[in-house]
Amino acid sequence: MKKILLGCIADDFTGATDLANNLVRAGMRVVQTIGVPTQPLQAEVDAVVVSLKSRTIEPEQACTQSLAALKWLQAQGAQQIYFKYCSTFDSTATGNIGPVTDALMAALQTDFTIATPAFPDAGRTVFKGYLFVGSVLLHESGMQDHPLTPMTDPNLVRVLKPQTRHQVGLIDHTVVAQGEAAIRARIAALRAEGVAIAVVDAVSNADLLRLGAALSDMPLVTAGSGVAIGLPANFGIAPNAQASCLPPTAGLQAIVSGSCSRATNAQVAAFRATGLPAIAVDPLRLQQGGQAVQQVVDEALALCQTHLAKGPVLVYSTAEPDALKSIQDQLGVQTAGQLVEQTLARIAVGLVRQGVGQFIVAGGETSGAVVQALGMTQLQIGAQIDPGVPWCAGHTAVSDKTLHITLKSGNFGTPDFFTKAFQCIV
Ligand code: ADP
Repeated sequence: MKKILLGCIADDFTGATDLANNLVRAGMRVVQTIGVPTQPLQAEVDAVVVSLKSRTIEPEQACTQSLAALKWLQAQGAQQIYFKYCSTFDSTATGNIGPVTDALMAALQTDFTIATPAFPDAGRTVFKGYLFVGSVLLHESGMQDHPLTPMTDPNLVRVLKPQTRHQVGLIDHTVVAQGEAAIRARIAALRAEGVAIAVVDAVSNADLLRLGAALSDMPLVTAGSGVAIGLPANFGIAPNAQASCLPPTAGLQAIVSGSCSRATNAQVAAFRATGLPAIAVDPLRLQQGGQAVQQVVDEALALCQTHLAKGPVLVYSTAEPDALKSIQDQLGVQTAGQLVEQTLARIAVGLVRQGVGQFIVAGGETSGAVVQALGMTQLQIGAQIDPGVPWCAGHTAVSDKTLHITLKSGNFGTPDFFTKAFQCIV
């Protein structure tokens, strides 16, 4: 098996797909694994993204998992390691961006790395160390109210400092704008001052490409998915159509949606407006568990069976904020979430057994539950449907056919995503 070039560790599942998508667009062939594989890689690719769920777990556990991923990636030959986190720098007061960076630096015996969540295509820019989301600063973007990782300070140098035992510095835009040589000189100067992690400004893709060139010999890069656009060129790779080639597709078409985000609500509404079959799952029917859940699953699958041969079918629990709140008040947020995820995952398994070969899943947590229930361990990344959302292909444990699947995180995709995606599958 050919050795891989770039080894990536992502702290969440849909973020891993986002990174993989950017690498594919820059010409790399990429596989995303679900967790740390137990076997050597069975694919000829340039990069692997190991997806963890380590964003908000205990820092010690996040480090242990990330180091296990590092070890596996090194065994596959990775020449450079990329630690990927959210483009809004999601972290708690104690981690996990800092602790995982420290642990990876120690394991790689490297004394310098960068940190930047900049992803201008998604409206994330960093200037003078301050992170903007669209035209507002991070702490005015809604992220200040995030239930798990409230981000109340937009200054990334200040945010990172308490999370790491290293000195944190800044490579600001005046340097980045001058290009590779200036960035390398600034890195050398920071290093001489004892700085080990540099937050880097970037407000455009041109900045990211200039930065990418300056990172060619850096053993560890830590970033959002944006920096990835500048790295494949360092390995002599240019954008090409082969990178996103997936095996031929066959099979019926279905969508399972457990996301209640604004974009997904619009997508469900647009799909229903086409008159195509849409089957609603009522969470209140699931509260008894056991038999009640089985009945909902059986009914949904029976309805799907009657429609699937004629075209795409949607099964959804997606609800508008008021309806969602009412269900959560009655069942509890956690219980409702888990009941719905497990039900949709069982429906997904049934759909693949019924012959679905082209499958859209909406929702980050929902995607995790579905992929797990299908027993998928590895996804080959294909062409982008919308920014951050590519088609993928992989084997499941419930069918001997390759499944084409796309995992759409809540707020991604245009309103017609649920029909458009099937039109751009190749
Ligand atoms: P997103 O990517 O939009 O955040 P997720 O799948 O990550 O979507 O999260 C949505 C959560 O809401 C899941 O836990 C899901 O099970 C839950 N959920 C979905 N529909 C409903 C509903 N109608 N009532 C209560 N909870 C729901």
